[in-house]
Amino acid sequence: MLEFDKISYTYHTKSGETAAVRDLSFKVEKGQFVSVIGPSGCGKSTILSLAAGLLSPSSGKIIRGSGEFGYMLQRDALFEWRTVEQNIYLPLEVKKRNTAEMRAKACALAEKYGLKDFLKKSPSQLSGGMRQRVALIRTLAAEPEILLLDEPFSALDYQTRLEVCDDVQSIIKSEKKTALLVTHDISEAIALSDKIVVLTARPAHVLAEHEITFAFTPKDRRNDSHFAGTFEVLRKELGI
Ligand code: ADP
Ligand code: MG
Repeated sequence: MLEFDKISYTYHTKSGETAAVRDLSFKVEKGQFVSVIGPSGCGKSTILSLAAGLLSPSSGKIIRGSGEFGYMLQRDALFEWRTVEQNIYLPLEVKKRNTAEMRAKACALAEKYGLKDFLKKSPSQLSGGMRQRVALIRTLAAEPEILLLDEPFSALDYQTRLEVCDDVQSIIKSEKKTALLVTHDISEAIALSDKIVVLTARPAHVLAEHEITFAFTPKDRRNDSHFAGTFEVLRKELGI
């Protein structure tokens, strides 16, 4: 689905060079939820830009499917002057796939995930958690092959964050989508992922990979006896 093969990337600016990624290799299989975890500024957002093809690697090769990418960001980036429904149709307009059929699919998806009564509202009338759900449905409306999530929960308060990340994960799983999440939050990575890729400090390089196989839902993961041990292993690897 997506494979990074010995990828390096260096930013060139007037003030000098910043090596953001060095010799990075990992794979995301179809249907997998993979989290990439690393300290702030280590190169995580750069990795997503490379995955989406917004940046080209300085060296190495990225192997990807032919499908579309869907992005979900820290700030939900909903447009206030558009209703929830109009926000959800936005990627269809942008990608010139704004057909009655695609709109009906997007609308059905919104209704399936509890947004029916919100479609005519403006984003400002929604809670932070509901806004992120709208942002996810909007991302899914364009039928992406893989979802790229750049710390999409970090702007939310703690309680909302737990609810929203469980919500987002369960929608992604039930829609059988592939996801690549970058985060600096160890608990979030354990709760959500099939696999965790641990990065070094900048330039980002793979330090370790862990398959997470205990429990199924994020909530059960957090309550599982394996959670604390896994957290400890990751915390040590990250040196915090
Ligand atoms: P993270 O998402 O892990 O916080 P980033 O991928 O955003 O890290 O950035 C990695 C490094 O690359 C940082 O040191 C950052 O300052 C630098 N960087 C990011 N974007 C640019 C850019 N457009 N030009 C120059 N340097 C950049
Ligand atoms: Mg970032």
